[in-house]
Parts: sequence; C-alpha cells; structure tokens
Amino acid sequence: MTKVLIAEDDPEINNLTSLTLRMDGYEVLQAHDGRQALQLILQEAPDLVMLDVLMPGMNGYEVAQEMQSRPAVANVPVIFVTAQQDMEDRVHGLGMAVDYICKPFAVPELLARVRSAVRVRKLQEQLEKLAITDELTGLTNRRGFLAHLEEELWRARRFGHPLAVLLFDLDHFKKVNDTWGHAQGDAVLKAFARVLEHSSRRTDKVGRLGGEEFAAVLSETDIEGAGIFAEKVRAATEDLEIHSDGGKIPVTVSAGAVAVPIAPVHNETDMAQSQMAELASRFLQAADHCLYEAKETGRNRTVLRTLGSVDEL
Ligand code: GH3
Ligand code: MG
Ligand code: MG
Ligand code: MG
Repeated sequence: MTKVLIAEDDPEINNLTSLTLRMDGYEVLQAHDGRQALQLILQEAPDLVMLDVLMPGMNGYEVAQEMQSRPAVANVPVIFVTAQQDMEDRVHGLGMAVDYICKPFAVPELLARVRSAVRVRKLQEQLEKLAITDELTGLTNRRGFLAHLEEELWRARRFGHPLAVLLFDLDHFKKVNDTWGHAQGDAVLKAFARVLEHSSRRTDKVGRLGGEEFAAVLSETDIEGAGIFAEKVRAATEDLEIHSDGGKIPVTVSAGAVAVPIAPVHNETDMAQSQMAELASRFLQAADHCLYEAKETGRNRTVLRTLGSVDEL
C-alpha cells in the first residue's frame, strides 16, 4: 500500500485531502505542523510527502530542506500544496519538489498529480534496486555491499558493537569454466550465492563483489562468530552437489575474515561520510589480505584476524 504523508495546518483541508486519498486506496498519515511532519517522515518513510508551505513552527520549505539532508528520506518525492500562487514561489518550490499544487485545488487534478508522482517514485526505486543488484545471483553487488558496510560501520560506532567482514573467493574457478564450460561456471556461482544466503542471518548482508568473489558483513559479530560462519560456508560449499555430464563438479572456497571491536561514539558529526567510506574500504582490504593468505596456504580454508580497534585497519 502506498503511504502518503499530508502536512497541512488547516484541519479542514487536511481532512479533505486525507479522505480523498484514502478513498483512492492510499494509506495516509496526517501531520498538522512542520515539526510533526518531519518526525513522521523520518519515522515512517512514506512514499510521497504533501507539504503545505505556510505552517506554524517549521514551514514546508524547511521540512523539504531538512529531508534533503537525511539520506534515508532524501529521495522521497515532495509535492507542495499551497495558496501562494506567485510564479517565483512556484519556481522556488519546484527546486525541492516534484510538483506544486495551488489551493484551492480540484480533487481529480490532485489525484492525478499524486498518481504521477508515485509512478515516478516506483520507477526510480526499481532503478535504484537494479543498480545495486547482481543480475546472475540476485545478491547485492559491490556498490550495494559497500553502501551497506558503511551503514553497518555507522551503527557499530553509534552503539559500540563489534563488526566482522569476510571475503570469499572460489578456488581454481578458472578451471571449472575451462573444464565444464561457462554455463556450468555460472550455475556454480548461483549455487554458492544460495549457500551464503542460507548460512547467514537476516541481520547479515552477503554480496557478490564481482567474478567469483563474494563478501559478507556480520553485524554485532566478533572473530569467533565470523569463524563459525566462514566454516559453515566452507563446509557447505565443499558439500555442494552440482553434476554435469562429466560428473560432480568439485567446488571449494577460501575465505578471509576480519573482526574489530568498535568503541561507541555518540557524536556523529566528527566523522565525514567520506572517512567512513575510506574505513569500509580498509576493512575490505584487511579481509583481502587474509583471503590471500588462505590461498597461499592451500585454499579451501579460512584465515581469521582480529584487531584491537579500527585504528589498526
Ligand atoms: P584461485 O583459486 O587463485 O582463486 O584461482 P581462480 O582460477 O579462481 O582465480 P582467477 O582469478 O585466475 O580466475 C577467476 C575466474 O573466474 C576467471 C573467470 O573465468 C571466472 N569468472 C569470473 N566471472 C565469471 C562469471 O560471471 N561467470 C563465470 N562462469 N565465470 C566467471
Ligand atoms: Mg498553512
Ligand atoms: Mg578464485
Ligand atoms: Mg578471484
């Protein structure tokens, strides 16, 4: 169900708009001033926000501006609904919104504009999803994985949780392709993706970074937990039963795992997004060193490393 938030201080217009949208099948959240609107937007992440411009406390423009500075809701489309008809007002409003409706409005036009904004939003969401999805396995791709890792690092830093990152690389995979063909190689990649999914928890994230390289980030997990996870994946991969004309395709995987305890920091402003991205990439590099060691020391194995703090990454 599409969720629309209506922020309007005039109770009559608020109720009329809400009723109109509810009758058209939308789930509607009502806010009566700017602050309440912002709070509900952050809490409920609606699919569309309709903002009156003149409201007590915080006006519609300020709510829209605040939304743009919060990544979680920055892409939620905004429609201004206002009595201000000046061309300059409309131009200013459209700088932050997908549409602008003048009061008094005709109900069919309001509905048409809402439907159009929601349609564009759904398309945008599909594209965003495609951009972070690996087509072959359906797992998140490198871009999506890195974004998730950064989010997990922020969370871990806020609450003081340990975090583990693992890299997996299928062993002698070139040989699988060369011996059984590329299509069978793809089948192995898909099967391994399912192993990763089945071995992980809902709160973990697994992804395909490219080729035959995969990764996992385990929230609130220390090196012991990471080791258990890696071993589960390693054993399940060895046990995979993928058959071809030439017989069973042998599949093994090597893994590198790094776990770090993270001290809680309640101030989020002393670290920039770019610094967190840098930390995420150092985390992956550290796991890559362990993976390299696993390859060097015989493959079909896991190399674990635990660090004292993120400063050692
Ligand atoms: P190692 O044990 O050292 O990791 O050896 P490897 O053969 O797995 O490593 P290498 O990096 O030399 O080869 C990776 C191979 O993965 C090369 C390529 O044929 C194969 N590959 C990469 N992407 C795909 C894909 O999407 N589908 C298939 N079928 N094969 C792929
Ligand atoms: Mg008003
Ligand atoms: Mg490999
Ligand atoms: Mg590789």
